[in-house]
Amino acid sequence: MEWQESTHSTQKNWRSPLPLHPFQNGIYGKSGAAVPNSFMFSQSINLSNYSNYKIGGLARYFYRAKNVEQLIRSIEKARQFQLPVFVLGGGTNLLISDEGFNGLVLKPEINLLKTEGNIIKVGAGVSVSQLLNCVITKSLSGLEWAGGLPGTLGGAIRGNAGAFGGEIKDSIKEVVSLDISGKRPKLVKRNNAQCKFGYRNSIFKMRDGKEIILEATLAIKKGDKKEIRDAAEEKIKYRQERQPLDYPNIGSIFKNVPLAQIIADLKAQITQINSDTVRVSPRSSPRKSAFTAPMKTDPFPVVPTAYLISECGLKGVSRGGAMISPKHPNFIVNVLNAKAVDVKALINLVKLEVKKKFGVELEEEIIYL
Ligand SMILES: Cc1cc2nc3c(=O)[nH]c(=O)nc-3n(C[C@H](O)[C@H](O)[C@H](O)COP(=O)(O)OP(=O)(O)OC[C@H]3O[C@@H](n4cnc5c(N)ncnc54)[C@H](O)[C@@H]3O)c2cc1C
Repeated sequence: MEWQESTHSTQKNWRSPLPLHPFQNGIYGKSGAAVPNSFMFSQSINLSNYSNYKIGGLARYFYRAKNVEQLIRSIEKARQFQLPVFVLGGGTNLLISDEGFNGLVLKPEINLLKTEGNIIKVGAGVSVSQLLNCVITKSLSGLEWAGGLPGTLGGAIRGNAGAFGGEIKDSIKEVVSLDISGKRPKLVKRNNAQCKFGYRNSIFKMRDGKEIILEATLAIKKGDKKEIRDAAEEKIKYRQERQPLDYPNIGSIFKNVPLAQIIADLKAQITQINSDTVRVSPRSSPRKSAFTAPMKTDPFPVVPTAYLISECGLKGVSRGGAMISPKHPNFIVNVLNAKAVDVKALINLVKLEVKKKFGVELEEEIIYL
């Protein structure tokens, strides 16, 4: 296998053009031929068991790839049978449909974790908490912000996960991925700039479904073990105190709202009252009154979406088994066997009410499957 340095040309996506069919009594719709003896894939796997939300229907096929060769073989097999492919990480940012997925759910379980000085090679399947434990043991500083961040490194790189002013991009030196958009899967190595990281964004998200992240090289600096551990534990404690972790959830449903977006949406005048709050005076929407909102850095100035939802009086509102968390209203929690449709109904409600009251368009941070 040869390395291919990134050129990021617009390559063709080979995803199956066939529509998805709902499953019928274990007999699948006609899209995508059946794989004989299911090859190495498991069949009819309950995706709710792979979702932090405990929500989701069946995957027609499911496969855990332990190395690149297995990934390539499974991709080739899926292509041969025209199956759409979805890459699953830790399932901590996913709202999986009640109908499941009529294709192949592929879980890259590449669990490499190797340090050499302050350089770490990490497989996409390694959990962020495992990575954090490793860097703490080696007294390496730079990932403390990720204390309590669930999910895998692959998912974190794809969405440029971040918290407490830090982002995964800050530590990334190189990412190796498998480009599955061409005739044959090929390996691509990118440096940090080529990954085009942005707010919860990256080249891998932009090229949705065309690349599978395999591993990354991280560069972080030496530090004091106790200070690193304390800083990471402080973040874990903060999350435990502020987030509704007692219920299945997928973290914040919506992105926080950048101040720049509020200005664009409302042509607002923004007056900073002190370093933690802003006063927003909508000019283009005279029917909306001025409001004062908290402000935080994420890593640029944003108004927390939780505040906007709370001001709409939506805390504790529920649909079916899903509820807008009173503890942290940007979380929708699964309180009682919630369905994806329950969560979707609340998402639509929140978007509508926030738009009505503040004139601000919310954008989902979560991914739909
Ligand atoms: C309690 C809680 C708190 C959270 N707090 C934060 C936070 O502070 N900041 C934040 O940014 N996020 C937060 N999240 C969201 C989530 O944890 C992160 O986005 C995480 O990085 C997702 O990783 P995952 O492995 O679970 O990805 P998944 O949910 O499995 O998948 C997410 C997306 O990544 C893709 N993906 C996964 N692995 C790969 C791969 N190897 N190659 C290509 N694509 C891949 C999937 O196809 C999907 O599109 C939180 C979630 C929870 C439940």
